[in-house]
Amino acid sequence: MPIKKTRTVCTTCHARCGVFVYSDGDEIVKIEGDPDNPKSYGTICGAGMSQREIHNDTEGRLLYPMRRVGERGSGEWERITWDEALDTIASESRRIIEEYGPEAIITGQGTGRTTNHWHCRLNSTLGLEGWSLVPTHVCLMPHILPNAISLGIFSPADGDLPNSGTMVLWGQNPAMERGIMRLILDRQKAGGNLIVIDSRFQDMSKHADLAIQPRPGTDGALALGIIREVIANGWYDQEWIDNWTYGFEDLRARVEEFTPERVAEICWIGPEQVREAARMMGTAGPVGMMVGLGPGCMHTNAIQNGRAIACLQGLLGWIDVPGGVNVPVAFSVMLDDKITLWDSALDPGRPELFTFGGDKHPLYKSFGRSNDPNTVFKAMITGEPRPVKMFVAIADDPLLCYEDSNLTYEAMTSPNLDLIVVKDFYLSPTAQLADIVLPTADWSERCTYDEELDGPFILAFDQAVPAPGECWDDWRFFLEWGKRMNPEQWPWADEKEMVLWRLKEFYGFDLTWEEFQAVPVRIVGATEPGAEPVHKKYEKGLLRPDGQPGFPTVTGKIEFSSPAMAAFGYDPVPDYTEPAESPVSQPELAKEYPLIGSTGHRVYSFFHSAWTNVPAQRAFYPEPFAVVHPDDAARFGVTDGEWMTISSPRGKIISKALVSREAKAGCVFIPRPAWRDECKALGLSGYGWDRANGNVLVPSEPAEPGYGATAMRSFLCKIEPGRGDL
Ligand code: SF4
Repeated sequence: MPIKKTRTVCTTCHARCGVFVYSDGDEIVKIEGDPDNPKSYGTICGAGMSQREIHNDTEGRLLYPMRRVGERGSGEWERITWDEALDTIASESRRIIEEYGPEAIITGQGTGRTTNHWHCRLNSTLGLEGWSLVPTHVCLMPHILPNAISLGIFSPADGDLPNSGTMVLWGQNPAMERGIMRLILDRQKAGGNLIVIDSRFQDMSKHADLAIQPRPGTDGALALGIIREVIANGWYDQEWIDNWTYGFEDLRARVEEFTPERVAEICWIGPEQVREAARMMGTAGPVGMMVGLGPGCMHTNAIQNGRAIACLQGLLGWIDVPGGVNVPVAFSVMLDDKITLWDSALDPGRPELFTFGGDKHPLYKSFGRSNDPNTVFKAMITGEPRPVKMFVAIADDPLLCYEDSNLTYEAMTSPNLDLIVVKDFYLSPTAQLADIVLPTADWSERCTYDEELDGPFILAFDQAVPAPGECWDDWRFFLEWGKRMNPEQWPWADEKEMVLWRLKEFYGFDLTWEEFQAVPVRIVGATEPGAEPVHKKYEKGLLRPDGQPGFPTVTGKIEFSSPAMAAFGYDPVPDYTEPAESPVSQPELAKEYPLIGSTGHRVYSFFHSAWTNVPAQRAFYPEPFAVVHPDDAARFGVTDGEWMTISSPRGKIISKALVSREAKAGCVFIPRPAWRDECKALGLSGYGWDRANGNVLVPSEPAEPGYGATAMRSFLCKIEPGRGDL
């Protein structure tokens, strides 16, 4: 049989690299990067390459729907059909809605699955409004909400770095997952400045013209200090400030106290680093930033940290111009009413709409349109403020991805839950506790598309190989569950019809499937394939719903002082508050737990908690590890390459010590994967949900007031040599 070559997109992580998959019958024989893809430029990483193993070697993979026959967690299953599984899910949905109301059903979703809008539609079919349960308090929303509030840009607001005079990687390491790294280094060779701000001295720090390592959770203070220097030196455009920004004098007054010396003291850096960062940003534009999750997410002061960085971008003024901040429109339209079945005229924060924890974290309710996860988990245990009876997790492993894993475990094992359904690739720790498990198709095995995180791009995915067993993509699962609940809302025959309807209805692409696949990347807002994005959309009335020039904010301008923030009880001007659990805010606790723990940084293989069972990925990092500075290792008797125990008031885990100056002194960096799964091919153990999972150490309270972000990247801990009893 001739080798088939399929052009598609890897969705293992958010980078969405273009790839060619070569297959021989049902087997993948090779995967290589697509050099014409405008996001990845032919680059592909080891995690993407391992799709060959994931597809070809299905040992341990969920291949058929299964129903629990023993006790929960006993590991005893029987195979059932998709119809049996879906009929059970639909009949239980109807019963629970009837007896307890739709809020008693929680649907959880993992990240990066290209189905956010369809998931929301399914929830609407159930009688819910919003996402139900997603960990967007961890990453997505604290990442983009400050941009939405400050700049009116509902996206990560990544910069056009290949055309920047000064490139800023703020808590962002594109060497991990982005083909753009090569372009950044090329731009630097051609004269561009590269500033890397990250608590870890990471891959890109080594290439930086200026590398700054702020203490975790203090990036907001650093941003305010840079703003102060930019203003004090007159490195801004007064005409831009007058025409397009709001609250400049308030911002000027606020930053006055953030002198380089004070910022240096807060951030544990040198004052000259603050001055130099401001000089580069203020004098060598355009400035393009890529802001990752570290600075403005996973801290109890997350939103204001992100606000400070967003305001710095607004002050510098390189908005929607080549080399500056990209302003996409895709994200704003992704969750429109036609697909979600929401009524946007209704305020999602309205008091009469019940959400779990919406009263506690109103910003999450209004912008995240989700339940507060910790309130949901507590409701699963206690039945208060309302009972939760059914939990459906789609590509989601809550035991690994939420803070305070012991609380999540108590919730997942609660006898109050009548039905737990998990749809995933493997029997994850959460799936092991389920009543029904459902098998999932991976990216090479499905034909859908992505419009979610790619700014102006719509990426076509083609199916390279048939899915093994009875693995379904999530689109089909939502479709079939939705049909059983309300067929009028789910009229399509299959995923391809869903895709083509979406493209025609929302983007004006009236295409056959073959025509859609013939152009792998389309620009949103352009009818001609390959058309260039439009710049300075704020001047042309392309950003505001009323078609007027300006930004889609309350004032129509970039808001240094935000009426929206004030309405939610925040200081309207960005300010710095100390993380809730730090050596400064909790000096007594710090006597027993003297180090700052930070979880969640990426490593070259794996995506979140997934794939530690896959040999090609596990070979890179066989054992759990955490990074500590040599001074801290010496102080606490920890040896490079040996086991250590990391403890916090919440619990303890084990890791091998990686003793390196990559870590900032006084901090411990625990990467994301948690090494939950055994890798049989390499004879390596799995550590489940509780033995190497940094989230065991993280408190669920206190949380960021409006949004509920927790202290995943700034909590107190200690290290000791050895494994103890783990
Ligand atoms: S896993 Fe690797 S190849 Fe796949 S999208 Fe991410 S960076 Fe690209």
